[in-house]
Amino acid sequence: MIAYDTPGVTDQYEYSVKGFSPINERDGDSAIMDYRKEFVVKPGTKVKLSKYDPDETLGHHKGPKLDEKLAKLQSKLDSLQYLMYAERKHALLVVFQAIDAGGKDGTIRHVMSGVNPEGCTVTSFKVPSAEELAHDFLWRIHKAMPVVGDIGIFNRSHYEDVLVARVHNLVPKEVWSARYDEINAFEKLMTENRVTIVKFYLHISKDEQKKRFIERIDDVDKRWKISIADFTERKYWDDYISAYEHAISRCSTSGAPWYIIPANKKWFRNLAVSHILVETLEALKMKFPKPAVDIRDLKWK
Ligand code: AMP
Ligand code: MG
Repeated sequence: MIAYDTPGVTDQYEYSVKGFSPINERDGDSAIMDYRKEFVVKPGTKVKLSKYDPDETLGHHKGPKLDEKLAKLQSKLDSLQYLMYAERKHALLVVFQAIDAGGKDGTIRHVMSGVNPEGCTVTSFKVPSAEELAHDFLWRIHKAMPVVGDIGIFNRSHYEDVLVARVHNLVPKEVWSARYDEINAFEKLMTENRVTIVKFYLHISKDEQKKRFIERIDDVDKRWKISIADFTERKYWDDYISAYEHAISRCSTSGAPWYIIPANKKWFRNLAVSHILVETLEALKMKFPKPAVDIRDLKWK
């Protein structure tokens, strides 16, 4: 039996199996979109990323109306986080993964700008240290999980252990290929212990990556971001895409779904991620706890 009630998006909706639904089925600004339904990867789907358009905007346009929408979502997210912090029944883990220049940092900055830092932790996973490598690959991940009441954001995650580790043969195939099931078991343990998990793959095109790398060279304020590794890793683009397709296909579950976010347009990426976070927290049906004291007994002295 599941110890805690964590409504999974995939229990409630029907999904389009291949990529996003056709553009003419949508109606942009006037539509009440269900972003979770639109971008979730249904468990068991064999993902082919070329079928997902990274330029998708669901008929939305950049401009003041969009800014207003984003501001409203930010404020909703702030209220929901406050409620989660007060209720202390759930934690939320938000995983961001993307190819280099995919926009993880920018998205995190956007999400964080709306919430109280007191109830939020961001963890960036780098090349594992000697100590981390001497443990199982989930050791450092488990330690970084958010406590109830908090939002935990992962900039990269345990998925690196089936992405970079697979692309560069950092461990033998027997080792990385067992990790998909190990990740699913770990995430199930977490979701059964009060952590709601959402995982975002920020989907950009190879051309968009090149454009962003060129921007980093041209813009003096962005030059600090340039790393040689980004340019060498670009050669492995196809291998990374294939590793992402496997990871998303194998590890999108009803309790811990993957969302593929069209991310060529930064503003749309922010809109979609904010919507999904708000929808996810609203589905938890959280309530403020009853006050610890009977307010009728309070007397001013
Ligand atoms: P950045 O996010 O640009 O600061 O880079 C972090 C680097 O750490 C990337 O090159 C990742 O591929 C690498 N990294 C993160 N996690 C792992 C891991 N589990 N194994 C190997 N490399 C990793
Ligand atoms: Mg980088």
